[in-house]
Amino acid sequence: MATSARRTRIARRRVARVRASGSDLTATEWGAILGAWKARCAYCHADGVALQKDCVLAISRGGRYTVDNVVPACRSCNASKCNEEVVSWLRRRRLDESGFMLRWALISRALRDPDLV
Ligand SMILES: [Zn+2]
Repeated sequence: MATSARRTRIARRRVARVRASGSDLTATEWGAILGAWKARCAYCHADGVALQKDCVLAISRGGRYTVDNVVPACRSCNASKCNEEVVSWLRRRRLDESGFMLRWALISRALRDPDLV
């Protein structure tokens, strides 16, 4: 169990890492992401639960908080996926891997360039 000083240090390092990664997700973009995923968990489709911003490609793997890398995730999926590679995590959890990849591709393309759809 991490002490609170250690947790604070870890949280601070994470904030610094997110800043250094050039993340630029705005509140408007997060709203659009939530709308595109119909306010459900992108991974398990949980409805009516609190949703967190999950980086599909984890920050520790070079991912950023950007419109095409963030999906809404329930607390359980976010905690379970942590910084694991998304495809192997989806397979391990027996979640709909191809369904997720297809929806994610379509949604992130639409959010990046609304004129394409
Ligand atoms: Zn979930």
